[in-house]
Amino acid sequence: MTHEKLFTPPDGSTITVNPDGGLSVPDDPIIPFIRGDGIGPDIWRATDMVVVEAVKRAYAGRRQIRWFEVIAGQIAFETSGSWLPDETVEAIRHYAVAIKGPLTTPVGGGLRSINVALRHLLDLYACVRPVRYIPGVPSPVKHPERVDMVIFRENMEDVYAGIEWKKDSDEARRIISILKDNFGVVIAPDSGIGIKPISETGTKKLVRRAVRYAVDGGRDSVTLVHKGNIMKYTEGAFRDWGYEVCRREFSDLTVPEAELTGPEAKGRVVIKDRIADAMFQQVLLRPEEYSVIATPNLNGDYLSDALAAQIGGLGMAPGANIGDHAALFEATHGTAPKYAGMDKVNPGSLILSAALMLEHMGWKEAAELIYTSIEATVAKKTVTYDLARQMEGAVEVSCSGFAKSMIESME
Ligand code: NAP
Repeated sequence: MTHEKLFTPPDGSTITVNPDGGLSVPDDPIIPFIRGDGIGPDIWRATDMVVVEAVKRAYAGRRQIRWFEVIAGQIAFETSGSWLPDETVEAIRHYAVAIKGPLTTPVGGGLRSINVALRHLLDLYACVRPVRYIPGVPSPVKHPERVDMVIFRENMEDVYAGIEWKKDSDEARRIISILKDNFGVVIAPDSGIGIKPISETGTKKLVRRAVRYAVDGGRDSVTLVHKGNIMKYTEGAFRDWGYEVCRREFSDLTVPEAELTGPEAKGRVVIKDRIADAMFQQVLLRPEEYSVIATPNLNGDYLSDALAAQIGGLGMAPGANIGDHAALFEATHGTAPKYAGMDKVNPGSLILSAALMLEHMGWKEAAELIYTSIEATVAKKTVTYDLARQMEGAVEVSCSGFAKSMIESME
């Protein structure tokens, strides 16, 4: 693939997506990365160091990532006049796996959000957030180690579809009058209007991916989290379509919780469903009963951050946006501009996202090295300022110092 403004690596091979959705990953894959704005370059430098070392050690030099820098955000706007150049989107689509740092959200014009645009342009319909405790990280709950969940949040629909109209706009007035004239529904005339679409196709794609992940990863349950008691034809339908996917496509591999006759699921993944508000209590009171979660967009947004807080905050939470043709791994926090260029912040979120990327590529040994070395580094209490200020006896290190400490513990 050639580009006008981007410099494709001179060597390296392309990851391809198989017809069954799996990946064919060469030993020298080209992987596009977006450094990101603000603290992006700092955390990218640290991530690069850790990933290169983990891959080298795990495969004795047999495998090597060929990084390919692509641009988006503030830097892209300043150099090309576009917040999200087409070439960047095309490169991610072509190479199938990519990683990004945080991006500035344009204010007053341009794109509403670069992240949302990327999700829509690349059809990255599943937002995947693993939430697992790293021992030693300060947490507000008594037993953060009981949390080990992976949230699959639908990424394109629900109230996030961006279909809304301002109070007193022509569109809002017309919709209010159509509802009154045709359906006898009375809405206060000074209302803003938003639309909440949840489709059968979008739901099934998401739940299928979550169940496949649970089956392949030996997880014991998938919980459909919804607010179907109130929103019957959107959230309630999400639950029903979710069960339908399991019944039709995974009947030998899953069992609905309601059909369990004893404590034994006999190796099958148990499919549960919970009302969203009750689920917020459950993850606090009985987190060990939940493993994979599949949920519509808004519930998933709230639940991801609440669970991240339980295990010590967003600074260490990895994330990915995944579709059938491409996957984009990302830090879950923003650009923290006041710390830009200070080599100060915690690179944990981007480093753990890179480990998730390696798992997605099937490079599990390298991912495991990253997990064990981050655990060892936190256990030694060599941490960045954000954790150091909450941990007694901690030794504060810089962003790159944290990466170096991780590399030392790989030895
Ligand atoms: P933010 O950049 O996440 O920063 C808020 C605060 O979180 C920081 O001041 C810092 O807290 C802490 N923090 C964030 N990342 C950290 C890290 N790696 N290590 C340690 N502490 C960290 O949120 P924001 O200030 O609301 O947003 C700034 C810009 O980022 C906006 O343009 C926003 O739209 C954008 N954004 C982008 C993404 C994305 O690209 N995925 C996500 C969210 C926001 P202390 O000050 O307490 O140390």
